[in-house]
Amino acid sequence: MQTAPLLISSLLRFGTTMHGDSEVVTWTGDGARRTSYRELGRQAAQLAHALRGLGITGDQRVGTFMWNNAEHLMAYLAVPSMGAVLHALNIRLFPEQLVYVARHGGSQVVIVDNTLAEAFSRLLPHLPDVRHVVLNGAVDDATRAALAEHAEGVHDFAELIEGEPTSFDWPEGLSEDDASSMCYTSGTTGHPKGVVYSHRSNYLHAMGVASSLGITQADRFLIVVPLFHANAWGYPYSAMVTGASLIMPDRFLQAEPLSAMIAAERVTGGAGVPTIWNDLLHHLDGHETDVSSCRMLMVGGSAAPPAMIRAFADRHGIDIIHGWGMTETSPVASLAVPPARVEPGSEEYWRYKSSQGRILCGVEARLVGPDGDVVPSDGEAVGEVEVRGPWITGAYYSNGTEPEAELDEMAAKFDDGWLRTGDVGRLSADGYLELTDRAKDVIKSGGEWISSVDLENAIMAHPDVLEASVVGVPDERWGERPLASVVLKPDSDVTVEQLREFLEGRVAHWQVPERWALIDEVPKTSVGKFDKKVLRSRYAAGELEVQNAG
Ligand code: ADP
Repeated sequence: MQTAPLLISSLLRFGTTMHGDSEVVTWTGDGARRTSYRELGRQAAQLAHALRGLGITGDQRVGTFMWNNAEHLMAYLAVPSMGAVLHALNIRLFPEQLVYVARHGGSQVVIVDNTLAEAFSRLLPHLPDVRHVVLNGAVDDATRAALAEHAEGVHDFAELIEGEPTSFDWPEGLSEDDASSMCYTSGTTGHPKGVVYSHRSNYLHAMGVASSLGITQADRFLIVVPLFHANAWGYPYSAMVTGASLIMPDRFLQAEPLSAMIAAERVTGGAGVPTIWNDLLHHLDGHETDVSSCRMLMVGGSAAPPAMIRAFADRHGIDIIHGWGMTETSPVASLAVPPARVEPGSEEYWRYKSSQGRILCGVEARLVGPDGDVVPSDGEAVGEVEVRGPWITGAYYSNGTEPEAELDEMAAKFDDGWLRTGDVGRLSADGYLELTDRAKDVIKSGGEWISSVDLENAIMAHPDVLEASVVGVPDERWGERPLASVVLKPDSDVTVEQLREFLEGRVAHWQVPERWALIDEVPKTSVGKFDKKVLRSRYAAGELEVQNAG
């Protein structure tokens, strides 16, 4: 057989010609902008020419500081195809973290949305490698001047690409193992760590996701997962493989505009974290919206509450597909599609749907117990999940500046060619993963482990509960006990005693929390996950009003 390299440029060429009529729709304050994939291909070529003109001639990094929109997708296609490396910066990181990540990656050109330009102008003085800033949309004179002070050139995206040729001889001499893009983990401890994807890993991951979800050209996918988080779950490239149109929400991420997008654009599927879909669920419950076009919403990034999965199906006819992965795994490593033999709607069916899913073809997974031995994948033994495969990272990115201790820490994440995920759970013989916790969130109470996720799911099944987060807090007698922080629906008068009673019979008696706090909002990380670190420190600082129940 021939060994054609698996390059992003072949995905670009295929998607923008074979699926030329598919479209990327970008939401704006008043309506939507539309670009066909054919036109996107032409503009990607123009962007590549323009970037060559700015000195991107090899595998330099090109950064983005953008929402999900057509121009961001264009960068996802053009930058790797020309042989450079795309580094999508997470706009929600704290400034110090952003500066660390941007410097560590070393972008020379950064494309910035106009609505984020002011924020970027405050980072730029700390980013000496950035030579050019390309602005997507108009910005005020003061912001432009602030940027110009710290860069060789500040350009307007549309003007920069205008007049450039609409085709590009995408280099064919690239190796499929060359870097195509990079993302950083949000780094709950220490510095964020860089993961470098290759053309090959992105290509295979896109095919894996597209086939596992059965995406076709008829699909119209609402991509709420940011293009700057965990490789956007592969959607920019799966879209080229399948021809599915993409609906890009830009900065309009609240439930109301998202539901308007679903109705107006006849969205058939979507991708986002549980908090996004949970908000959407409550919005749909209260506002009649035509979501009949929507067949599925993929959810991942943290555990999807089973009650939410069922509520979407029961009340809105939408199939939630739960997936698991991490920045290091491109990210999709498993998807919860129940086996065909299981009767839809049965208890067994819902158990499969709530699991983290079946490991995808191409990924291998095993469990390692506390003493370092592999434990059986029998649906019972619990261990840390380790994975390997063609879209699992084999190392973290080093630019040669890290101290020895950090290099050691990065190397320690690998175990004889397997990536240690830090996630704890069970694997069934037929490859379904059921996570019980993150290694650092497990609550160790009197020598037994309590899964914070199981408790959260049980509490969130209460009809008056909007969100709940459980963390372990120090306890004199038991070492650690769970603290439940709960957000109630606005007009609810449920008491913590009633919540506690609700849990009796749903979780083991000894796991029911005695400490409860009613809060206005669960603190979230930059990518919308429950920020348990913040809850723990608020508790330690005595900032939570804790009630005792039971
Ligand atoms: P970060 O480490 O920055 O949060 P990632 O988004 O890469 O970045 O996070 C990966 C982690 O998110 C996984 O290791 C796991 O703990 C958690 N996670 C992802 N998907 C799920 C899921 N479906 N259920 C439970 N946890 C999940």
